[in-house]
Amino acid sequence: MLGRCRRRVLVVDDGQPRNASALELHGFLTRDGTPPLELLRLGRDELDRYGVELRHGRVVTARGLKDPISFEITLETGAVFACRRLLLATGVKDEVPEVDGMRRYYGRGVHHCPYCDGWEARDKKLVAFGDPKHSAGLALNLLTWSSDVIVCTNGPGTVPARRAAQLRKKGVEVVKKVVQALVGSDGDDGRLQALVLEDGQRIDADAVFLAVDRHQHSELPFKLGCEIDEKGAVKVKGAQRTRVPGLYLAGDAAADVSFAVVAAAHGAKAAVAIHEDIEKEDLR
Ligand SMILES: Cc1cc2nc3c(=O)[nH]c(=O)nc-3n(C[C@H](O)[C@H](O)[C@H](O)COP(=O)(O)OP(=O)(O)OC[C@H]3O[C@@H](n4cnc5c(N)ncnc54)[C@H](O)[C@@H]3O)c2cc1C
Repeated sequence: MLGRCRRRVLVVDDGQPRNASALELHGFLTRDGTPPLELLRLGRDELDRYGVELRHGRVVTARGLKDPISFEITLETGAVFACRRLLLATGVKDEVPEVDGMRRYYGRGVHHCPYCDGWEARDKKLVAFGDPKHSAGLALNLLTWSSDVIVCTNGPGTVPARRAAQLRKKGVEVVKKVVQALVGSDGDDGRLQALVLEDGQRIDADAVFLAVDRHQHSELPFKLGCEIDEKGAVKVKGAQRTRVPGLYLAGDAAADVSFAVVAAAHGAKAAVAIHEDIEKEDLR
């Protein structure tokens, strides 16, 4: 969008998108089922048309300057760039539990979001995995997609009484044993088949949904002085503006709802704000 506004744009990305392991991206209108890295490739192909420059690399420092508003960013190679406005779309990182097999089936049987992957798991054997409170809430949520759901707390813990009563009412079992491994079929298209517990018991499972914490992928929002809300998201005002003049934030790093289509929409909103803010500055 900024390219279409004839702005000179540099995109710097070190290429670790959150959903890189997912087999397919869902819920992105017209791109439903596209592998995430393929969507990225399609997007990048379009940048060329508008002369947007793309660099692979990590931004290690960013410094905001006033009067006029501008930024200086430094890449890990030492390269320095100056810009009038800075848009961060640095994303978040999920705390994927250290359980044998978890990474292997991540994005292909191990998911986070029922809205993203619940449809494909409909009527299958599902596990809500995580601390007692959040996995219980997630399990109740998953009942929309399947009636065969269990909670796995991966160790002892107490499900809050109200949640425990709701789970009982819906016939959802709570397993409090430690999970030793996730197992399934081999190969590139290997599928999750079961959880193996510490005592050797095997619980059949087609999909595990994680109720785990996430944190900001980059320290740049903190270093630049952004405000963070109680959920760890960067606070933004209208049109993705942060409280730091000239700094905008798009995508999961600021999102309440973490969808690729929302991140893309944030980008479009931020682009309009950036373009108009520069326009106003130039008229003064
Ligand atoms: C397993 C999984 C499956 C998902 N499935 C879906 C789905 O089906 N549908 C859906 O809508 N959403 C899905 N999501 C959510 C989706 O991945 C995110 O909403 C989306 O990726 C957010 O885009 P983003 O640009 O904010 O962040 P990201 O895609 O995470 O991109 C952030 C980029 O910034 C880069 N970066 C960070 N810091 C720096 C730095 N200092 N210098 C340079 N580069 C930096 C990172 O390397 C990364 O490439 C899924 C997420 C996961 C984890």
